[in-house]
This record gives sequence, C-alpha cells and structure tokens, in this order.
Amino acid sequence: MADAHRFLSQTFLQIMLDRRYLPLSDFRALVHALNQKYDYDLSLDHDADLLEFINKLNPTLTSLHLKLSQSIDEEKGHRVLVLCNTLSSELSRNPTFNDQQMALFRQIVTAIVESVDGILDLEQAESAVVDIPNCTLSAQQAKNTVQQLIKQKYLRCSNDVVTLTPSALSELQPYIAATMPDQVSNCFGCNSLCLQGERCPGSQCKGRVHKHCAPTVFQRKKACRLCKGPWGSEVFSQ
Ligand SMILES: [Zn+2]
Ligand SMILES: [Zn+2]
Repeated sequence: MADAHRFLSQTFLQIMLDRRYLPLSDFRALVHALNQKYDYDLSLDHDADLLEFINKLNPTLTSLHLKLSQSIDEEKGHRVLVLCNTLSSELSRNPTFNDQQMALFRQIVTAIVESVDGILDLEQAESAVVDIPNCTLSAQQAKNTVQQLIKQKYLRCSNDVVTLTPSALSELQPYIAATMPDQVSNCFGCNSLCLQGERCPGSQCKGRVHKHCAPTVFQRKKACRLCKGPWGSEVFSQ
C-alpha cells in the first residue's frame, strides 16, 4: 500500500507540473484508474483523506517553492487542485520571461482585473503592449509572449477569450489584492477573490458573487451583502 501511495504521488505530481491545475473529478478518476490497473486499494474520496494527501506532499515541494492547494475554478464552478509557485506572487520571478514580457503580463492581469467580467479578448491581451511605457516588444513578440503565458498555464484561452487560470489566480491573489485593492472584492459565497462573477447592480458598489455561488448566497435574501441594495441575480432569470 505504501508503494501504491508513492506511485500515486509521483504520477499526480508529474501531471500537476505539466498542467498546473486539475479538476478534482479528474484526480479522483486518476485514483480510480490506478486502483483498477494495479489492483490498488487507494481511497481518497473523502475530503479529509484528500487534505492529508496534499499536506503530505507539500513539505517535499517547499524547497522547490511550489505549493499544492485546493481552489474553485471560477469559470466552471468546480473544485480544482492547483500547483502554485510561491515565489511568483510578485509577478517578477519567472526566469523564462524577460522584464518586458513580465510587464506585458502585468498589463494583461490589470486589464483582466479591471474588466467587467474578468475576461479579455485575445486581441486586447496581445495589444496591451501599447499601454506599457517604453516597451520595446514588437507586436509579434507580444503575440508570442501571450502564447507562452498560455502554454505555461498562466492564461487560459478559449474561443479567443483570455482568462487567468485557477493556478495563476491562486498565485496572484496577494499581488492583485495589494496592487488593485479598489478593483477587486471577494465573493460573498466562497470568500475567494472574484473576477468572473456577477457584479452588484449598485453603480458605486464593488460587491461580487460567482455565478455558481449565487444560488446559495441569495437563497434567503436577494440583496447585496455590502450595500444592502437589491440584487436581481442572473441565475434567477434563467
Ligand atoms: Zn464564490
Ligand atoms: Zn452592493
């Protein structure tokens, strides 16, 4: 059984180093597949077992400045396991990007945070380079940088729309909260940073709720927790 656990840990870490985030359902499918294939008896269906599994792996990752944790995929609403780089919260330590490329990433993060719904058109992300003072990146270099950011799982791109990945969001939460405190707020439901979600209809209010958290939050009272104004959540009109 000890071997089974070690094998699961190795397989899981290989996947996480490549993918950076993994839906919990995929992780459980992996455990199931290993059990089937090798006649193991691993059981991580309970959250307490999952937490113990993660907590056991983290000390070995500390020296690599990596950390595993659980989060929610803002876009899809499901639980995910994320692998974060504990050094990159200042957005300046990734050695594969030069200063100009990091400046472009910062600019994209700012644009995503300042957007209404936490998303950015791919074209806008690529052209964010024009807003950076003294930036020498060419349009093509900017395009390539965005593709690298997608490849390294900082950004997710689908249908030409760019968002922060669950792992990037976990990693950058301190940076975003520190540099743009007036732009962001935590979801009333899950209390994590909310970029993709509903905004309070009150024009001055920065109250936000994830779509998947809205049914629970507004179950009793359809009002903003911050300004107390009415909240005609989109989920009620569907
Ligand atoms: Zn939430
Ligand atoms: Zn409000």
